[in-house]
Amino acid sequence: MIGKVALVGAGPGDYGLFTLRGKELLQEADAVVYDRLANPRLLEFCKDGVELHYVGKMPDRHTLTQDEINALLVKLGKEGKKVVRLKGGDPFVFGRGGEEAEELIQHGIPWEVVPGVTSAISGPAYAGIPVTHRELASSFAVITGHEEPGKEASAINWASLATGPDTLIFLMGVGNLGLIVEKLVEHGKPLDTPVALIQWATRPNQRAVSGTLKDIVEVVEREGITSPAIILVGKVVSLRDTLKWFENRPLFGNKILVTRARSQASDLTELITKAGGEAIEFPTIEVSPVSDWKEIDQAINKLDLYTWLIFTSANAVEYFFERLYTKGYDVRHLAGLKVGVVGRATRDSLLSKGIIADVMPEFYTGEALAKELAKKLSNSDRILFPRSEIADKLTVKFLAETGAIIDDYTIYTTTPVAEGVDEVDTLLKNDKIDCITFTSSSTVENFHTALGSVWNSLDEKPLVACIGPKTAARATELGYAIDYMPNEATIAALVEGLKEKLGGE
Ligand code: SAH
Repeated sequence: MIGKVALVGAGPGDYGLFTLRGKELLQEADAVVYDRLANPRLLEFCKDGVELHYVGKMPDRHTLTQDEINALLVKLGKEGKKVVRLKGGDPFVFGRGGEEAEELIQHGIPWEVVPGVTSAISGPAYAGIPVTHRELASSFAVITGHEEPGKEASAINWASLATGPDTLIFLMGVGNLGLIVEKLVEHGKPLDTPVALIQWATRPNQRAVSGTLKDIVEVVEREGITSPAIILVGKVVSLRDTLKWFENRPLFGNKILVTRARSQASDLTELITKAGGEAIEFPTIEVSPVSDWKEIDQAINKLDLYTWLIFTSANAVEYFFERLYTKGYDVRHLAGLKVGVVGRATRDSLLSKGIIADVMPEFYTGEALAKELAKKLSNSDRILFPRSEIADKLTVKFLAETGAIIDDYTIYTTTPVAEGVDEVDTLLKNDKIDCITFTSSSTVENFHTALGSVWNSLDEKPLVACIGPKTAARATELGYAIDYMPNEATIAALVEGLKEKLGGE
């Protein structure tokens, strides 16, 4: 059976600018062939076991030629695979998508193209520059800047470019900027024509600079703008002063370290990204369910003995319900129980299972929950507390003081991980991290084990933000000076606070 190859535009980098059709194809793909300009986060849409081929430039590796890429696509297609060829921006705008399609047709391999948001238009948009404007530009041209403008039989008609389209958009041109400017001026473009360069457009590390044909080469050199960047020439560039928006978002320009477990990091990462910041995921813990279910199973089998069920984390809720379902029960099995939760995230997780929590303390700590429960408990109560292996002993102690019987059983464990230590080590030493977030005591502890000595050696330390009092207390104990802790221990409040703390710069 023969496969199918889809040439899919990955968009300019911002994850949200990917198409729904592209996502659908990635979800079905058996193999993905991608390069440097495609946002790697998009690969998270792929199913387990997908075959990934990186064909972009790597400093220490031979880069595949276009012929080799064509051959790879044909080979994968012939193997009967559903293949996605993921290309930055739009596949048919300087993406060599046309050539790849021709090759596929020649080998009789079914194919399709999924257009993407091209950097040529979206890059300027994210810098606050519309490529057309009623008063300033009624046409634009997208031009390759890669071609040597000095070469004799240039395919670029400089004379008509310099006098024709109102807005000129050069891709792949940074290395040739000087020559591009020279050619345009030589063919009649006024020296005071505004020019902008936008590097890594639509990404958290976007940088835009502007000038005129007269001084842009100098500006770019001074600011150190390198590839990939878009060169934009024309009056519309002046609109950036009023229409600049992307760089105005509160966390723009800030790199924030997220130390939560990979499985839990997404909400924090997403809020940081939406506020314009760059989230760097450095999971310091991994969460997994217990391997021995004996205690929990016994409790589930005799749930009618209990009057209360309490949860101090969303993880505990998730694993408890998973086990309940595995054993063939559903939410009705809990009908006779009252339920206490430590805070909002746990409450929401419980609500997603169809249960409204009976008790949630004002402050989101285990002690506060225990104190709140103490008002309602007597020695005729029996509590089931499925908890993390390292859950706070104090919670159990406070509960025990009420005279109630407590069965606190481990339902999940957190183990330290330290993937990517070297990268974070380098970022820290090069002063590239603006803030580090801790969302539990174990994230602090494991970060400290992995990078505590590097941290201590830093002259200027990134901002330290802790989600709540318990985490902050542990961080303080380990020698970290806390810069921020929200009043309410939630991810949303943490990010809101960071916007204020970091946004004022
Ligand atoms: N098919 C792509 C363009 C590929 S050519 C598209 O439609 O966007 C590669 C060039 O595109 C780079 O040299 C650079 O000029 C530009 N480019 C692509 N993505 C970019 C980005 N995020 N920021 C700045 N320039 C980008």
